[in-house]
Amino acid sequence: MRKALFISISVLLVFSIGYTKNIVLFVGDGMGPTYVTATRLYLREKKQKLHLDTFKKIAIVQTFAADSVVTDSAASATAFACGVKTNNGVLGEDDTAVFMQKDGKKVNSIVHFAKQKGMSVGLVTTTRITHATPAAFYAHTNSRDDEQEIAHQLIKSGVDVLLGGGLKYFTPEMQEELKKQNYTVVKTLEEFNKIDSKKTQKLFGLLSDSHLAYELDRTSANIKEPSLTELVLKAHEVLKKNPKGYFLMVEGGRIDHAGHENDALRAIHDTIAFDKAIAAYQLVVTSKDTLVLVTADHETGGLSINGYPNLGIGLFEHVKEGDKKLDYPVLTWATGPGFGVKETAQGLFTEKQPAAFLRDYSAHSGVDVYLYGWGVGSEVVQGTLDNTDIFKIMKKAL
Ligand SMILES: [Zn+2]
Repeated sequence: MRKALFISISVLLVFSIGYTKNIVLFVGDGMGPTYVTATRLYLREKKQKLHLDTFKKIAIVQTFAADSVVTDSAASATAFACGVKTNNGVLGEDDTAVFMQKDGKKVNSIVHFAKQKGMSVGLVTTTRITHATPAAFYAHTNSRDDEQEIAHQLIKSGVDVLLGGGLKYFTPEMQEELKKQNYTVVKTLEEFNKIDSKKTQKLFGLLSDSHLAYELDRTSANIKEPSLTELVLKAHEVLKKNPKGYFLMVEGGRIDHAGHENDALRAIHDTIAFDKAIAAYQLVVTSKDTLVLVTADHETGGLSINGYPNLGIGLFEHVKEGDKKLDYPVLTWATGPGFGVKETAQGLFTEKQPAAFLRDYSAHSGVDVYLYGWGVGSEVVQGTLDNTDIFKIMKKAL
C-alpha cells in the first residue's frame, strides 16, 4: 500500500514538474547580439517579429577559447558539446592538443552520453555535416580542416539522423557502408521529400556537395534544397519514435559565412530562417518534456549598427545627420572584405557594408553571445555563463 502510494506520488511529481525527454540545441553560427538586433529591425520594416524575442529565459555567454580571446567554431563547439575549453581548430580533444600538430586527450560529447541513456541522436546543419560545429559532437581530431578524416569518423559514430551538406567527402564505398548500417541515404530534395519517417530509423541526408545554399539564394534562385525548418521537422519525425527521447543539434551554419563576407543581407536572411525553424519546432513539441536551448558559438566580423538613423529607415540605407555633411551606412563591420558604398544606376550599392579593417575574410570577434532557454529545465538559463556551461546544462538534463 505504502509502495503504491510512493509510486503514485512519484508519478505525480514527474508529471507536475516534468522530465526532460528531448534536448534540442540550436546554434546560430556567428549569430552575435548585433545580428539578433539587425534581424529584428529588418523584420520590423516588414511588419514581422523575431520569434527569439518570445523566449523568457536568457543568459549571456562568454566564448573565449583555451588559447585565444576570440574563439573559432571548433573550440566553441567543443566547449558546448563536450564541456571543455580547447584550442582553436581542435575538435573533441582537450587543450593539450596542438592545432594540426598533436592530438590531445579525447573528450566525450553530449551525443555519447545521450546514447548511453538509450536516447536517439541527430545533427542537422546548413553547412557540410563534416564542418566544425556538427563535427565537435562526434569527431576527435587536432584539425577541423581534415574533413575527409572527420567523414570517416562520422560513419562510425552511431548518430541516428544526419542532415546537411558535404556529399563530396562521402565516397560511393562510404555510402555503401552507411546503407549496410541501415541508414536511409538521401541526396536530393525529391528523395528527401519521399522519406517515410515512420519506417525510417536511421537517416543520412547529404543534400549538397558542399554547404547548403544561403537562404536568400535558395528562395530567390529556386535552388532545390529543403529549408532548415523542413530539415528540423524531418529529424524530429524520425527521432521522436524512441520512447526514451532524443538529443538534437541544429545549426544555422551559414549566418557565419555571410558575416565573413560582410554580407549582412544574407546573414539576416539566414538568421530569419534559423528563427523560423525554432518557432516551427516549438509548435510540434511540448515544453513539459522538451528542453530547447538556442545560442551562438561566437560573433562574426564585428557587425555594428551606427549613428542615429530615424526609426523606420532601412537598415541598408545611409544616415545623414542634420545639416552636417556626415553620410554613413547604418551597418558596418570591424573586419572583412567590405568596401565603400558605390553609387549605381539603381542607387547606392548596399549588398555588402564597409569594414574598418580590410581583410579577405572577416575575423570573428570576442563579444559575448546569448543563450535562450525554453521548456523543462530551462530555469537555469540566467546570468553570465561560460560556453562550457551549456554542456553542463544538457548533461544534467539527460
Ligand atoms: Zn566563422
